[in-house]
Amino acid sequence: MTMEAFDVIIIGGGQSALACAYFLRRTDLSYIILDDQLYAGGAWQQAWDSLTLFSPSEYSSLPGWMMPKSQSKFPTKNEVISYLAAYEERYKIQVRRPVEVNAVYHNGLEFELNTSAGTYRCKALISATGNWNHPIIPDVPGKEGYQGTQLHSAHYKNANDLIGKRVLIVGNGNSGAQILAEVSKVATTVWAVQKEPEYLPDEVDGRVLFDIASAKYHALQSGKDFDAKQYSLGNIVMVPSVVDARERDVLHYRKTFQSMTPTGVIWEDGTTQDFDAIIWCTGFNPALDHLKSLGIMKDQQIETTETKCNALPGLYLVGYGNKTGFASATLIGVSRSARSTVNDIIEHLKHTK
Ligand code: FAD
Repeated sequence: MTMEAFDVIIIGGGQSALACAYFLRRTDLSYIILDDQLYAGGAWQQAWDSLTLFSPSEYSSLPGWMMPKSQSKFPTKNEVISYLAAYEERYKIQVRRPVEVNAVYHNGLEFELNTSAGTYRCKALISATGNWNHPIIPDVPGKEGYQGTQLHSAHYKNANDLIGKRVLIVGNGNSGAQILAEVSKVATTVWAVQKEPEYLPDEVDGRVLFDIASAKYHALQSGKDFDAKQYSLGNIVMVPSVVDARERDVLHYRKTFQSMTPTGVIWEDGTTQDFDAIIWCTGFNPALDHLKSLGIMKDQQIETTETKCNALPGLYLVGYGNKTGFASATLIGVSRSARSTVNDIIEHLKHTK
């Protein structure tokens, strides 16, 4: 069992960790990435088989090296995984796999990490564990007693096991729309939503969204108003499978149900409907369980200013979405967060040496 020390440790081996490592390897700081997966690719390895990016490859790149052009307009999940694996090789990024970080402590001077491969110590710690390990399934009365198949979009792979079944898809976001589009080709589907789904115009993809979100970010930074409601990042992007579903006329929804029975659901109007399977496309929370031991979490969250933890200097959270840096949960957006985090770490370590 190891008991090694580094200046910086990064927990998680997805795109956010790699972006941080890219900037760290240009410094004289020692660092290591600890990732609990067997292979490179982070959460993309868990995603459903047909998932593609929302943006062309030139809008989906980590610092330093552009993602190679895709065979299709939007890179596939496997193309993203290959890119991340090749990126690690190209920049000789130091990663250990599989190493799960179970708990983190701070003794006033440095961090101590209890992992599946022994104890590690470091002066600065970056948590870049993404959201995928923390799927949210709402607390619906009767959920425990439902006897059909239930799965979260985090664990959905393809519709092979759903052929000919009655399937309820829950959730009005992109995951819900894309999984509905796929499953509706082989099964009878109903789409349950809390809020009416909002669709982007067909010609708007992730590239346009990123440009608009950037314009909004810069306007707000300089104290100006910017109305981009119609281009919200949460709205549904009309990827080809969703356009096809619209053409097949299957994008119908019902306002969500009030409770569940052993065989299905009870809708708000009191009627019941049976389903063989329910797919929860109801989002994720940041996967921060390994930091609970620090005793600084409130409501399962850690407060940060950009990526810097407010309660504990030396701890940084990268890639968890706008809360930890504008567009940081995207390939193109995480560079900025990663660069500023490494600059902050250099400053922090100057004052702690
Ligand atoms: P992850 O990729 O989740 O990597 C975190 C890694 O840390 C994983 O390997 C995980 O196993 C590991 N880990 C977790 N806990 C521990 C621990 N305790 N110890 C050790 N290792 C641990 N992004 C885009 O840029 N463009 C898109 O078009 C796009 N489309 C998307 C569509 C959908 C439907 C979804 C759900 C996401 C999409 N994303 C897109 C977002 C993207 O998938 C994630 O935001 C991205 O994977 C986050 O990268 P990350 O490195 O922060 O985390």
